[in-house]
Amino acid sequence: MNFAFSEDEQKFRTELRAFLASELPSWWRGMFVDDPRAMPFTRAFSRKLAERGWLTMAWPKEWGGAEASPWKQAILREEMWAHDEPRGPQYMNLNYIGPCILRFGSEAQKRRFLPPMAAGDVLWTQGFSEPGAGSDLAAVATRAEPSTDGFVVNGQKIWNSYADAPAEWCFLLARTSVAAKRHHGLSVLLVDMRTAGVDVRPIDSMAGPHELNEIFFEDVAVPRDCLLGEAGQGWEIVTAGLTFERVGIARYARAGRVIELLVEHAGATGLAGDSEVRSKLARLRVQYEAARLLNYRAISLQAAGRVPAVEASIARLHNTQLEQQVSDVGLEILGLAGQLTADDPAAPLTGLLHRQWVRTIPTTITAGTLEVQKNIIAERGLGLPRAR
Ligand SMILES: Cc1cc2nc3c(=O)[nH]c(=O)nc-3n(C[C@H](O)[C@H](O)[C@H](O)COP(=O)(O)OP(=O)(O)OC[C@H]3O[C@@H](n4cnc5c(N)ncnc54)[C@H](O)[C@@H]3O)c2cc1C
Repeated sequence: MNFAFSEDEQKFRTELRAFLASELPSWWRGMFVDDPRAMPFTRAFSRKLAERGWLTMAWPKEWGGAEASPWKQAILREEMWAHDEPRGPQYMNLNYIGPCILRFGSEAQKRRFLPPMAAGDVLWTQGFSEPGAGSDLAAVATRAEPSTDGFVVNGQKIWNSYADAPAEWCFLLARTSVAAKRHHGLSVLLVDMRTAGVDVRPIDSMAGPHELNEIFFEDVAVPRDCLLGEAGQGWEIVTAGLTFERVGIARYARAGRVIELLVEHAGATGLAGDSEVRSKLARLRVQYEAARLLNYRAISLQAAGRVPAVEASIARLHNTQLEQQVSDVGLEILGLAGQLTADDPAAPLTGLLHRQWVRTIPTTITAGTLEVQKNIIAERGLGLPRAR
C-alpha cells in the first residue's frame, strides 16, 4: 500500500496553507470558544472556500463540486482540522448530509438542496438522538405520521449540535411506521427548521462553550417531497451517513498539530532535555502516525467505491483515543499552567491545552460511542455474535 501524495496533491496542500495563512484572523481559535465572532466567521470563510471550488470539491461537477479524489479531499480535511476547523458547523453538510442526498435523493431534491450547500449558504443540523435513543438509535420514537400531502411530525430530539446557530434545515430520523420491525419503520425527512411547531432549546454543557440543543416537534407538517429515499429506508441512510461522518473527521490532523506545538514548546522552554517528556512526545507521535494510516486505509476503500464501515470504526476508535491521550500528556507536560484559559496572559500556548482537553472529553461519545465502535468491529469485523 502506498499512501504517498502526488506532486499535484502536495501543491494543493501548499496552496491551501497559503490561503489559510491569509484568511484566518489572529483571534481564530476554533468553534470551541465563547466568541461571538466565531460563527459569522465560519459562514463567511465557507463561502470563500466555495468560491474557489474547495468547499465541496469531492462532489460531482453537476452539483457544484470538482470531482476531486478522496485523497485531495483528505488533504483539505487535514488542513482544516489542523487549523481548528474554520468551516465550523458546515462539516455536517459536507461530510455526510450532502453525500447522503447525493446518494439517496431524487433529482428534484438534489437540485433543491445541493447547490446552496455547495455555495456555503445553508446550515443543517442532525436530528438523530433522542432521550431514549442514543447508542440504540433504532429505538427512535419521534413519529412522522403519513398525511394526505406528506407527514406530521411529533416528538423530541436531543444533543443537536448548532441547531440554534441557527440551522435552516434538519436531517431528521423519524418513525413512519410502528407496524414494521424497528429498523424498517424509520425514515429520513429533510425538515425546514422554520416550519411552525419546531422549537429549539439550548442545553448548557459542563464542557463550556454552547453547542448542544434539544429540538421539539409539535404537529410539524413536512411535505412528501422532503422524504429522502423511500419510507422505511431511514436505517440504511443513517448507517451510510454515519460511516461518511466517521471517515470525514480528520481528528488525527488536529492531534498532530497539537503534538507539533508541544514539541516547539518543549524546545523553547528547555523541557526537551527531560527524558520523560521526550519519551511521552515520541509515544504520541507513534500513535499519531498509526491514526493517520488507519484513516488512510478507510479513505483508500472509499476511493475504490466501497463503504468502509468497519475500517471507519477502527480509525475513529484510534483517532478519538489519540485526541484524549494528546490532551492528557499535553497537560502533564505543561503542568498546572496548562489548565489556564486563553484570556489569561500566563497561559502557555494561548490556552491551547485547556481547550484541547475540554473539547476532547465528548469525542468518544459523538457519532457513536467508543463501545458502539467496538461492537461494530467485533460483530462486522470479527464476526462475533451480537452483544446481549
Ligand atoms: C458533543 C456532542 C455532540 C452531539 N451532536 C449530536 C447531533 O448533532 N445530533 C444527534 O442526533 N446527536 C448528537 N449527539 C448525541 C450522540 O450521538 C449520543 O450522545 C451518542 O450516540 C450516545 O447516546 P447517549 O448519549 O444516549 O448514550 P447511551 O446510548 O445511553 O450510552 C450510555 C453509555 O452506555 C454505553 N452503551 C450503550 N449501549 C451499549 C452497548 N450495546 N454495548 C456497550 N456499551 C453500550 C455507551 O457506550 C455509553 O458509554 C452528540 C453528542 C455529543 C456528546
